[in-house]
Amino acid sequence: MPPDMLKKRETSGKRQVMQLLEHSQIALSQDMLEKNPELKIDRVTIYRILRSFEEDGKVHRIMGNDGKAYYAYCRNCAETHAHHLHFHMHFQCRICHNVECLQAEVNLPVPENYQVDDANMVLGGICASCKNAG
Ligand SMILES: [Zn+2]
Ligand SMILES: [Zn+2]
Ligand SMILES: [Zn+2]
Repeated sequence: MPPDMLKKRETSGKRQVMQLLEHSQIALSQDMLEKNPELKIDRVTIYRILRSFEEDGKVHRIMGNDGKAYYAYCRNCAETHAHHLHFHMHFQCRICHNVECLQAEVNLPVPENYQVDDANMVLGGICASCKNAG
């Protein structure tokens, strides 16, 4: 395939992945995106797209308690002139494995002169819909 066609495919893939992340209430794993029949892009491209969104500060990566990486759209991330900060907590349901961003922020004491700019905190438990179902 000629390089400009590849590029075009990646650009429309990027738009689709961004739409999915933006409209999802939960964080999405690479697996979930790969299984989405609307996305016609291969896993390497999905991986590249997610990494580039992460570098651009559009999404953040959460390591779930199940050892998988999840990506969440950046909605209320703290922003300073030089840094895009992730202080909020996450929640992963042990039944449905959904990962969500919580409003609660992490604010823990650290040694003097240490700068915290990322808190990959994941609380585990049972989400409201699984709780109601059980
Ligand atoms: Zn963010
Ligand atoms: Zn659940
Ligand atoms: Zn988050």
